[in-house]
Amino acid sequence: MSVDTQSKAQHYIDLEDQHGAHNYHPLPVVLERGKGVYVWDVDGKQYYDFLSAYSAVNQGHCHPAIVNAMNEQAQTLTLTSRAFHNDKLGWYEKYLTEYFQFDKVLPMNTGAEAVETAIKIARKWAYEKKGVAEHEAKIIVCENNFHGRTTTIISFSNDEGARKNFGPYTPGFIKIPYNDTEALEKALQEENVAGFLIEPIQGEAGVFTPHDDFMRSSRDLCKKYHALFIADEIQTGIARTGGLLAVCGDCNCEAHCERQEKTYARPDILILGKALSGGAYPVSAVLADNEVMNVIQPGQHGSTFGGNPVAAAVAMAALEVVKDEHLIQNARVLGNYFRAEINKYIETTDTVVLVRGKGLLNAIVINDTEDSKTAWNICLRLRDNGLLAKPTHGNIIRFAPPLVMTKDQLDECISIIIKTLKEFE
Ligand SMILES: *Cc1c(COP(=O)(O)O)cnc(C)c1O
Repeated sequence: MSVDTQSKAQHYIDLEDQHGAHNYHPLPVVLERGKGVYVWDVDGKQYYDFLSAYSAVNQGHCHPAIVNAMNEQAQTLTLTSRAFHNDKLGWYEKYLTEYFQFDKVLPMNTGAEAVETAIKIARKWAYEKKGVAEHEAKIIVCENNFHGRTTTIISFSNDEGARKNFGPYTPGFIKIPYNDTEALEKALQEENVAGFLIEPIQGEAGVFTPHDDFMRSSRDLCKKYHALFIADEIQTGIARTGGLLAVCGDCNCEAHCERQEKTYARPDILILGKALSGGAYPVSAVLADNEVMNVIQPGQHGSTFGGNPVAAAVAMAALEVVKDEHLIQNARVLGNYFRAEINKYIETTDTVVLVRGKGLLNAIVINDTEDSKTAWNICLRLRDNGLLAKPTHGNIIRFAPPLVMTKDQLDECISIIIKTLKEFE
């Protein structure tokens, strides 16, 4: 890097530092353009994106079909609010509910808003359908969860950074260890339980993948104790883990099939965000069947931008891409290949402890203490070598490229990753 180009990137970083709140700690790289699996920085250097905006850009950067849908709608009608009907929302709701096989959808914008919506629906269902006494509803959540940043959501986080000095906290949550069926059953036996909110794979916590039938047994237990099974698939859903949803289990079909009947842990409430728009626009959604969703009546919940025509057009285009380009199958095949190749390397080294994940949501654990800078330093070196990834917690690096990646591109990425890791042996 010449002095000139260094100062160019630094200029943008300084602007953010001076004028923006310091609520993130980004990797020092300033991006100005993206296409498919690639992004380019302000100096024109090309990188493979191995974060995909936390799995929002599953369809690849600036996918032409999604951008076209957005442009076309942006020039026609952008926002009416829900005070009036618009000619896109109904089509979108029909499309989305058929795609995911639920009776109804409640459209929102960000992931955290959709989680909040799911919590409100579950509580209302508990009071009106299950007969829980007013103000007593409880929702079971897991340790080390990540569901967003609102006051209620951080109330049941156990990340000190996310919680400290943001109290008083919203009550009504029971925390159990992740991947612990016994603890779940015990919690479900408490009174006034409305539901169980879970990430099918804990992404932010470091891509923790539960045992194979944890989702199914959780769903069955929720049924047994008449509580709602609520899946936060904001990061894991929409092809990322090699199924349409992570709760589809071992089935990689695009819709329902016989095999799926055996593996699908169908949620009572499904929460989607991120890749629902392919990263083009903030679009989130909560899906449920009538007996649950119908507890919400006019005036009881809403959002000015939720279900706007641009969001509707963008989300339909984004979901078409998932089907047309067979992203589910691609994520599954490339994910298996990626873990196999990284495992071959792990056998030869002490630098990396393990690789874990599903589909193209994976992470490696670096052989160092949790508070070491090694994972961060590896990410800096990966950047120098043309690949962008970010540590999650301490010594864990998440690898989540866009799902439009080809085998040849992935081979190049694997060699960049292994070459970089070897520099740390
Ligand atoms: C990203 C994420 C959220 C929050 O989404 P935002 O759009 O950032 O509010 C919630 N749950 C999970 C599992 C996520 O990965």
